[in-house]
Amino acid sequence: MRFHIITIFPEMFNSYLKESILGRAINEKKIKILFYNPMDFCEPKRRVDDRPYGGGPGMVLRPELFLLAVAKAMADKKTKKGKVKIILFSTSGKKFTTTYAKQAVKKYTDIIMISGRYEGIDARVQKILRAEEISIGDYVLTGGELPAMVLIDSISRQIPGVLGKYESLEEERVSTSEVYTRPEVLKYKGKNYKVPKVLLSGNHQLIENWKNSKNK
Ligand code: SAM
Repeated sequence: MRFHIITIFPEMFNSYLKESILGRAINEKKIKILFYNPMDFCEPKRRVDDRPYGGGPGMVLRPELFLLAVAKAMADKKTKKGKVKIILFSTSGKKFTTTYAKQAVKKYTDIIMISGRYEGIDARVQKILRAEEISIGDYVLTGGELPAMVLIDSISRQIPGVLGKYESLEEERVSTSEVYTRPEVLKYKGKNYKVPKVLLSGNHQLIENWKNSKNK
């Protein structure tokens, strides 16, 4: 899978992408991340943003620069031959889910993700490109870079071979966010906090049942 990121802040991705599972996936060429900065298309002495029509606070990202950045991603030889999806991050977009991630892996070879900033990107970019507007949750972030990292992470986990054998098994098992490790009894401020007995029972069926009950 090739992820093409349209952003005016590409450096934000450096640290996250080089670590752990994603770093390994990039090194092993299971995924590729390419950046296109709309600033690179900005005329000298002009800004990447401009005042909003109709007034209001905040600035709007200029459409031409984002269209040029996407055109560069589309012009790539491999992208031309691929099955391409264009996503534009928006607070009012369709909610991203694991189901979406799984389908994306089956359907596309290239995903172009457009990250907004400030008051957002001129709406004509979405209309011209017929980009799908995607939200990662009901809250407002300062930009679309975190949403892009969320999608890269979640979609990559669904690509065969990206997770190691152990991590894949973890993914298939019934899992819960309520997890424990040693010590069996944690002493904290005069109180004893015990690991649930069922987890010490060695009875796999009872443990599965307990985990299922936690997921309800
Ligand atoms: N007033 C704008 C609005 O309500 O959409 C705020 C734009 S926000 C400060 C700047 C950019 O961050 C958005 O254009 C979008 O690309 C991205 N963004 C912020 N929150 C997001 C979310 N929950 N999901 C996806 N993208 C988000």
